[in-house]
Amino acid sequence: MDQQLNPRDLKYFRSLKWTLQTWKPTPALIEKKGANARPYIGQGYDPVFFDLVEDGWRHDHCEVCFVKLCDNPETCQTEGYTADRQWLCRECYEQNVAVSSRLRS
Ligand SMILES: [Zn+2]
Repeated sequence: MDQQLNPRDLKYFRSLKWTLQTWKPTPALIEKKGANARPYIGQGYDPVFFDLVEDGWRHDHCEVCFVKLCDNPETCQTEGYTADRQWLCRECYEQNVAVSSRLRS
């Protein structure tokens, strides 16, 4: 797989500080009517319309290739690089972000 980011995204991604982490479920607000979910980061919400579910955020996608990251090694990648609640799979991180720091040093 050889995914390419456009130069603007590339610059943005390279400006973030990424950490290698094991993916874990995080709290989410789940819409009572419908399947919409959004990450819960302490924002206000209306309990009439949303349930706060402790491990409600079940997966993320790599920002570049959209591969799934979750805590099930059978269906997902369980480890990736994260910054500002965004995720990159190891492959995309190494191809797009890590390259630049290697060149710089
Ligand atoms: Zn990827």
